[in-house]
Amino acid sequence: MCGIIGYIGNKEAMPILLQGLRRLEYRGYDSAGIAVLNDQETKYKIQIQRIRAVGKIDALADKLKGKDKEMKGTIGIAHTRWATHGGVTEENAHPHFACDGKLIIAHNGIIENYRQLKEHLGANHEFKSETDTEVLAHLIESHYTGDLRHAVEKALMHTRGTYGLVVMHADHPDKIVAARLGSPLVVGIGDGEYYIASDATPLLAYTKKVAFLNDGEIAEISRTGFETYNLRDESVAKCVEEIDWNDEQAQKQGYPHFMLKEIFDQPTVLEDAIRGRTNLEDGTAHLGGLSMSEEKMRGIHRIILIACGTAYYAAMVGKYAFERLAGITTEVDVASEFRYRDPVIDEHTLVFAISQSGETIDTLAAVREAKRRGAFVRGIVNVIGSTIARETGAGTYIHAGPELAVASTKAYINMSVIMILYALQFGRLRHTTLATGQRLIHALMEIPEKMNKILEQSEAIKKLAEKYSGYKNFLFLGRGINYPVVLEGSHKLKEVSYIHSEAYPAGEMKHGVNALLSPEFPVLAIMTKNQLYEKMRSNIEEVRARKSKVILLASEGDTEAQSLADDVIYVPQTMELLEPLLNTIPLQLFAYHMAVLLGRDVDRPRNLAKSVTVE
Ligand code: GLU
Repeated sequence: MCGIIGYIGNKEAMPILLQGLRRLEYRGYDSAGIAVLNDQETKYKIQIQRIRAVGKIDALADKLKGKDKEMKGTIGIAHTRWATHGGVTEENAHPHFACDGKLIIAHNGIIENYRQLKEHLGANHEFKSETDTEVLAHLIESHYTGDLRHAVEKALMHTRGTYGLVVMHADHPDKIVAARLGSPLVVGIGDGEYYIASDATPLLAYTKKVAFLNDGEIAEISRTGFETYNLRDESVAKCVEEIDWNDEQAQKQGYPHFMLKEIFDQPTVLEDAIRGRTNLEDGTAHLGGLSMSEEKMRGIHRIILIACGTAYYAAMVGKYAFERLAGITTEVDVASEFRYRDPVIDEHTLVFAISQSGETIDTLAAVREAKRRGAFVRGIVNVIGSTIARETGAGTYIHAGPELAVASTKAYINMSVIMILYALQFGRLRHTTLATGQRLIHALMEIPEKMNKILEQSEAIKKLAEKYSGYKNFLFLGRGINYPVVLEGSHKLKEVSYIHSEAYPAGEMKHGVNALLSPEFPVLAIMTKNQLYEKMRSNIEEVRARKSKVILLASEGDTEAQSLADDVIYVPQTMELLEPLLNTIPLQLFAYHMAVLLGRDVDRPRNLAKSVTVE
């Protein structure tokens, strides 16, 4: 998440770092900081200066004004933070010093075992922030005996979690050490100068030559070159690539559209959403943002999920989860309806407001109304510090990272998984057994890998989109937990391809929608192996009898699906409750490829905006 930029060369580092932070702004952040190693004073006065600020880069730039002398130096690191551990404060902003003021680090990601490490480091280390990152700074310091890279390597052997990190040391004004596991880093190669950043965007103004670090690699970067090693201290050869991207292409990381990039981001951002939020031993989840005692949680009799658009379909997944795992009556409401009806709310009602931007005006108004009526109100949002996050005072960030395509993809997945985790947390205080909780967590851990298997089929789904691109209408069918999935699939198709589509629970067909079926009206249906498989099968037979073309989403290994459909997309199996996390992806890809084929403005569909701040 968020951003890192480092520079070592012969120019003043500070302006380059500040400019780099601005280029990384699009990734989203809540605070920022810069550290420069002043290597130009007498050799006895080499020292690291650091300035940090909460809020926008402009706030940091203001603080840097008039500090040219203090911040003088040709080597430095900078960071935009998206808080995961510890509040949004200047003390928690990066870079973080270790004890002696010589070693400094900027880090993206999460150190999961930071508590144990902190305990282990003990009283010898003085901590100034609440972050997991600062613990890492002290851990590296504790392993430091004169070789910075070795100290980083040794420290990382003891950490669990993810990182993209850069480290500087006052005794080594000639190097930056960088390491990656989970959070991307790319080295930019200039002439006698080197850059390191979270993505290529901030580098493009200076160089087109880059080398991408892989997970488990450590780079030692100096003014004369860079060496890469693995965690076993073996040298790793890196190939240098020439990239010819403009800024926007760099943000897209080589994908033709943000939407496709964001679809492909999903395995990673799902991991970001669940990391540190499950407890396998107790088979439960712990989402701190609830800020509610267990007693109060047991007292909740009703949950209302309010949202708009895609978030509404994620909320429907939430309804299934809350009812199944926790046995709590759960209602889902469109925010613009909720605020104008007379919702029945009491002090045993918990309201979740779900919004990617955290600024959706209808959802915000609904939050205010629910608060006025005495409900507990919590936010589930993506954008840190957004109005809903602030007004609910508590709640959970979904950690999907910046979502720039107007049509939401990864935010939907992360909203869904956060609600499943909440449902598990409530469920374990009620009737969900330890075994079920543990099984769910295990199954959840396997989801990113399974998502990758679906993403590998992107080209095949594109071919399917080509085959069906001449149709003017589509019908999406699903049942149970896959009903919200088809609603979202149909919604996505409408949003980006402008094709008319309907989505129905398949059991409803006989009650009206059958009238639409004809060879001109293809049907995309989800018939995965779950408790409603046989029911769904019968529905598909009905569709076939009416000569509609059928595209089926079926479970891997279900060869019978072939005989029922014109085309089949296979998806890996998982626990029924987790199916939306997988089954939504082929539908996103179908909508995306269809939109591209039809020449639509995929990332900015007509008449739509990303953050809906008007009624
Ligand atoms: N976990 C770190 C923190 O909360 C880093 C967050 C980030 O990736 O920006 O400070």
